[in-house]
Amino acid sequence: MTVVALAGGIGAAKLCEGLYAELGKDLNIITNIGDDDVFFGLNVSSDLDIITYTLAGIVDQDRRWGLATETFSCMERLGIFYPESWFNLGDRDLATHIFRTDLLRQGKTLAEVTAIITQKLGLRCNILPVSNDPVHTKIHTSHGVLHFEEYFVKNKASVPLTKIEYRGASEAIPAPGVLEAIKNAERIIICPSNPILSIAPILAIPSIRQLITKFRQKVIAVTPIIQGAAVKGPTARNLRELGYDNSAFGVVDYYKPNLFSHFVIDQRDKDLLNHFTSNRFSPPITFSSFDTLMVDITKKIELARRILSLPL
Ligand code: GDP
Repeated sequence: MTVVALAGGIGAAKLCEGLYAELGKDLNIITNIGDDDVFFGLNVSSDLDIITYTLAGIVDQDRRWGLATETFSCMERLGIFYPESWFNLGDRDLATHIFRTDLLRQGKTLAEVTAIITQKLGLRCNILPVSNDPVHTKIHTSHGVLHFEEYFVKNKASVPLTKIEYRGASEAIPAPGVLEAIKNAERIIICPSNPILSIAPILAIPSIRQLITKFRQKVIAVTPIIQGAAVKGPTARNLRELGYDNSAFGVVDYYKPNLFSHFVIDQRDKDLLNHFTSNRFSPPITFSSFDTLMVDITKKIELARRILSLPL
């Protein structure tokens, strides 16, 4: 079965690990680039790296970003020259950013560089940045407009947001292969990522949103909210800040029911199903409840299998 996964970072990486175990080369992961930024002159693509490191089995299991058994000596030295620095990159992780930056400077596209990195890490699936054009997630707050990493890392996502902008998205062209992958996929899975910060920058590219909407019959979204809370990160608060309920219900409302025909909620939220079914979405959505808390590889594979065997 050929599958497309729309992915942010940590939540998506967990499900993609399960999907990869099931699908291998038939998995195409279209990844958010709204977090991409330049630090110390190096191009850093946070979500792409979380996904590739996780699938390659080399991610740090506690932090869930960066490489396992990492050291930060280079950061210590960089502190001499950049006293204001707040973004941490591990010594071994830096190799990826140096390599990416070098190839981009030589004129390769982000998609080409990602394909090379993926192959060098021994992965068989296709990891595609959503576009080779820049998309910048800008967070409007009472403290001004922040870059994504300024909001997420420097301010620990604690500053209330008032509006989000996906700068560049309306003009961005999907990377080669992205639209084809969406058209040809038997299933499209919207991973349990932050809908506002991780998935929306992908959907903000008009041709992608149009195509996903056109193929909504084969699109399954998975909740990133369990019992009113995020497993990690500010998703629940972000939903509230933008006026949505901090529940799986709020996630559906935020995405709009024309994007997908199936929505997976967590089994701990089973009671919500009464609410969902009595709420006639237009167009209608089929709800399923599974254990979506992916605490280990067994759970990741189990959830992937359930999603892949949902009758469409
Ligand atoms: P980030 O960009 O690294 O913050 O990562 P994502 O946007 O991909 O993921 C953040 C979201 O993933 C949060 O809303 C979490 O609740 C969700 N998440 C993380 N782990 C799990 C899990 O095991 N199950 C579910 N259902 N959601 C998860």
